[in-house]
Amino acid sequence: MIYLDNAATTKPCNEAVKAVAEGLENFGNPSSLHNVGVRAEQLVDTARTAIAKALGCEAGEIYFTSGATESNNTAVFGAYKKLGKRMHKAVVTTVEHPSVAKPFDELERMGVEVVRISPRDDGEIHPEDIVNAVDKDTFLVSAMLVNNETGSILPADKAFGKIKKKFPQVITHCDCVQGFMKVPVKVKRLNADIVSLSGHKIYAPKGIGAIYVKKGLHIPSLVFGGGQEKGFRSGTESVPLINAFGKAVESLSGEIESNLRKTKALQEYLIKKCEDIPAVSVNYHNDNCSPYITSIAVKGLKSEVLLHFLESEEIYVSSGSACSKGKKSGVLEEFKIPEENLDSTLRVSFSVNTSEEDIDKLCEGIEKAEKSLAHIR
Ligand code: PMP
Repeated sequence: MIYLDNAATTKPCNEAVKAVAEGLENFGNPSSLHNVGVRAEQLVDTARTAIAKALGCEAGEIYFTSGATESNNTAVFGAYKKLGKRMHKAVVTTVEHPSVAKPFDELERMGVEVVRISPRDDGEIHPEDIVNAVDKDTFLVSAMLVNNETGSILPADKAFGKIKKKFPQVITHCDCVQGFMKVPVKVKRLNADIVSLSGHKIYAPKGIGAIYVKKGLHIPSLVFGGGQEKGFRSGTESVPLINAFGKAVESLSGEIESNLRKTKALQEYLIKKCEDIPAVSVNYHNDNCSPYITSIAVKGLKSEVLLHFLESEEIYVSSGSACSKGKKSGVLEEFKIPEENLDSTLRVSFSVNTSEEDIDKLCEGIEKAEKSLAHIR
């Protein structure tokens, strides 16, 4: 099978699979005082340290969650709980994942003034547009690092840096799910107070994520209970999943730059091959994109029909993004992708195991589809 839907989820790496088993064998409760519990706690601590090292922060600034959806909700509603009584404005981009966009919709229903920043006509979010939306009444700014539908890298670092200088009270949040362990991500360089991460986009299992909260920020908890994760996120830690997350991070550490170079070459290869198929156009590409995600359109063919045709050839891609089950998210329009491409878009997303042969097969599949499928018009 040719799996090119790695922005939706990745196949767990061997290290992660082994780590799940190790976490199941070490079945103790990390909060137990006896050594069965302590052994489980050690696995959790090791994973926390690996993630912290990768992000350039302290282990005490990392909290485990059930995934980035929870991390994003915690960031938005936690910031509101901390400052939302005194300040009334929050700023977000229009290209965020639903797990950020929808919490902001909810903030709006709760009476917060939400300012949404769109890409300009050039299809890019400009940092000054985010900065200029912030004032002394703003408590939260959220901008993702890598967009999950186009691969666009947002200038969150530049925007947050300027905002923090002018309005240090503003909480800056970055959804780094599609960037972590793929492009260099260091919280200090990002100027982010809160960062959301997910395991299953980096070869760990689903159902595990993390949130970085800068030391001293003290975001109120949203989940109350046994006081795990220093009281910030109660609930017995999932040792197998946490262990796998940590081991997946460790196995990628030191490889980010070389994987990035290799993946850039693969993306260039894909784009070049697309140029040779007259019906195919690349929806979005510039020097500042993540090479792991490429949005393309196949003129005259509906995304869903094409996706299922490719599936019959054992080639797996997605239409737009996977989370919306094929429903249009509006994000591609925000990126100024031409109207006629919207219904014909495929998202091709690479992993560290993608090869030129996979891309050859994809292009052959598209050409075959072109010949055998009925066109939209
Ligand atoms: N943010 C982005 C950018 C994503 O791509 C995803 C996953 N589609 C999420 C958040 C949600 O992550 P999780 O599946 O871990 O809840």
